[in-house]
Amino acid sequence: MRIDIDRDRCMGAGQCVRAAREIFGQSEEDGLVVLLNADPPSSLRDEVSLAVSMCPTGTITVRMDE
Ligand code: SF4
Repeated sequence: MRIDIDRDRCMGAGQCVRAAREIFGQSEEDGLVVLLNADPPSSLRDEVSLAVSMCPTGTITVRMDE
């Protein structure tokens, strides 16, 4: 699983952090998302899917491994 973020789209709502703390954080400087793990294990798939669905700005994209 490969995760990308487009920080230009992020509005700092923090939903992704609540959904998947192992993968997403929030910058103390600008409040925007910080990607903590761009290649998480498949065991975190549900958390990642929840974060994607909760993000109001489409900041997060996920590419599943073959
Ligand atoms: S949920 Fe989306 S908009 Fe909110 S902090 Fe996370 S990436 Fe940014």
